[in-house]
Amino acid sequence: LPKNHISHYDLNILSTSSDALAKKEEILILTPMSKFLPQYWENLSKLTYDHSLISLGFIVPRNEDGDIALKNLEAAVKKTQSLDNKSKFKKVTILRQDSSSLDSQLEKDRHALKVQKERRSMMALARNSLVFTTISPTTSWVLWLDADIIETPATLLQDLTLHNKPVLSCNVYQRYVDESSGSNSIRPYDFNNWVESEEGLKIAAGLQEDEIIVEGYAEMATYRPLMAHFYDANGDKNTEMALDGVGGGSVLVKADVHRDGAMFPSFPFYHLIETEGFAKMAKRLGYEVFGLPNYLVYHYNE
Ligand code: GDP
Ligand code: MN
Repeated sequence: LPKNHISHYDLNILSTSSDALAKKEEILILTPMSKFLPQYWENLSKLTYDHSLISLGFIVPRNEDGDIALKNLEAAVKKTQSLDNKSKFKKVTILRQDSSSLDSQLEKDRHALKVQKERRSMMALARNSLVFTTISPTTSWVLWLDADIIETPATLLQDLTLHNKPVLSCNVYQRYVDESSGSNSIRPYDFNNWVESEEGLKIAAGLQEDEIIVEGYAEMATYRPLMAHFYDANGDKNTEMALDGVGGGSVLVKADVHRDGAMFPSFPFYHLIETEGFAKMAKRLGYEVFGLPNYLVYHYNE
């Protein structure tokens, strides 16, 4: 038996501050991954926060897409974590999902309203497995970063921790070529960062117990103010706005929020599930939820 087989960690002295890097606060980056995109890995590798303070966690579905993603991810990890790479990460954990996934992941199929409850609750189970399996006593922050977020500022972690918020979501946009002008342009992608509205509350009040609202569908007009529409190209990147719902594209969470029990409900929680339900749960636990409307990160364009 090892002599010292009891590990003591005083969570009171685990710091989570606006001066994260200087205080050597550890960050766990969590990514559910159905596809491996080289641009995601490149962007991740370029983050300028000290990599020896960053751990990575992935969860890969147990379907064919997952087989391919896993192979590519493992190859990338092997390269990055090689012995002589000075910028290797502290630790990398890859999980294979034990719960099921949707078969078709084509954008039009996975975004159909009728599959949202099933798809989003599967995603919630995957996210919960990932965070509960990888969070460690030394984790100060958790960054949820989707596998198709292919471009962020290299200072993403410094920029987000600076705000010192319990939950802080970036504005997820997408680059595309405008067909009429042929010029490079950007458009909003993620509509799950929102502020609750009277109309949204009214719709929720009329729902059966097991029914959910998912934002971003004309069939369910909530008139919620969406952070995606608050982007101001000339505005201050540090502008904050209070939110009631968040997406999962790029969200920084204080690890204590998860430790207190905030997770991704796979069941209707105030008629919300997954990341939107998570924001609600964080708020019910007494934490504030914010977004950065002028801080853009970019989603892959399929
Ligand atoms: P969208 O951007 O809202 O259309 O959602 P995505 O389909 O991009 O899913 C969000 C994140 O979860 C991405 O990082 C995907 O790679 C990942 N993902 C999607 N489906 C699954 C799944 O069944 N299992 C796991 N583990 N990850 C998934
Ligand atoms: Mn996506």
